Amino acid sequence: MIIKQDFIPETNANRPRTKMSPRFITVHETANRRNGANAQMHARYVKNPTTPVSWHYTVDNHEMVFQHLPVDEIGWHAGDGGSGRGNRESIGIEICVNSDGDFIKAMENAIALIRFLMKEHSIPLGQVVPHQYWTGKNCPATLLKTWDFFKETLKNSVETDVRIVTQIEEKNSTKHPTSFLLKKGSQGEAVRQLQENLIKAGELHHHFVASGHFDLETERAVRSFQKKAELKVDGIVGSHTQAALKEILKKQPQPTPKKQKFTKKIMSGKDVRYIQFVVGAKVDGVFGKETKEKVKVYQKKHGLTVDGIVGPKTWGKIDQLAKKTVYKRPLSLKSPYMNGEDIKMVQAYLGVIMDGLYGPNTERAVRHYQATHKLVVDGIVGPKTWTQLFS
Ligand SMILES: [Zn+2]
Repeated sequence: MIIKQDFIPETNANRPRTKMSPRFITVHETANRRNGANAQMHARYVKNPTTPVSWHYTVDNHEMVFQHLPVDEIGWHAGDGGSGRGNRESIGIEICVNSDGDFIKAMENAIALIRFLMKEHSIPLGQVVPHQYWTGKNCPATLLKTWDFFKETLKNSVETDVRIVTQIEEKNSTKHPTSFLLKKGSQGEAVRQLQENLIKAGELHHHFVASGHFDLETERAVRSFQKKAELKVDGIVGSHTQAALKEILKKQPQPTPKKQKFTKKIMSGKDVRYIQFVVGAKVDGVFGKETKEKVKVYQKKHGLTVDGIVGPKTWGKIDQLAKKTVYKRPLSLKSPYMNGEDIKMVQAYLGVIMDGLYGPNTERAVRHYQATHKLVVDGIVGPKTWTQLFS
């Protein structure tokens, strides 16, 4: 077995660099069945600056295992918060479940890796636990069905030769996340990023969903951009096209979010969810018939023009109401879960199921929000995160 150390950049929010001496090993499954969702793909994903989670190793059916964090640093994988023992004291291992892989082989590789880590860090068999152990989450979903068998196999396993190789970290790796070519058929985070930039540059319609799949529409947008930028028009995105795109985006003035809310006709899912929350419609992020009807009721109640359209006046009223929702307390993942209207507000804005309970899903969404809004990623809604969310 070869362990390839390909660490998350130290500047990433998902690498907190908090020291740890590992006492547990936590087993996960990636839950990503897509073709190509192997260890190498996850090694790229976890290095992305906006990825809110992190773990130590990813194993697939190949001989090479990827290591993303040093074992004496904590990661965000157990979902039990910044002070949880899962995050604080355990090495996280993700097993790939991609349908073009071989799960049995991946499981065998995971066993070999765990055996190695147990010896290396003197971790007893009893402290090899499923993710479920920390939060109750159904992970690793496949292995949990036969967890005892898995442990038994681990117990009876023999040591494997392990060789560790280190990937020398590129100094500029965060500046040039895409040194490879993106073209029709490409998939992944780099494509999604490209699509978002094309939307910002006006080459893709703002209604377009950045899916991470380089489709025909994306290619058309790339060609159109290349033509304007006087580049070779081939629909393939290499370093020249990326650089030109970056240059254009730098020059574009960023509209302030407030102004945007008043003027733009098509609102983001987040805004719609919030409106739905306030007017009492089903919160699904789609401004449909039901939402329109509820908006009308709301308008009538507040003496506004009844047209079912959220224009500046109606938005002003809704926004005014939001201002009444003041920060009361820090929200975090606790046992039992915290609950309340303030949590519902947060969930409405983050697009999480609004049950008013601060569970692992809510915490995950908060972490993601924090990571993408330059906040400290701790999964806790404190005054800063709250203000950022609602102002
Ligand atoms: Zn898990």
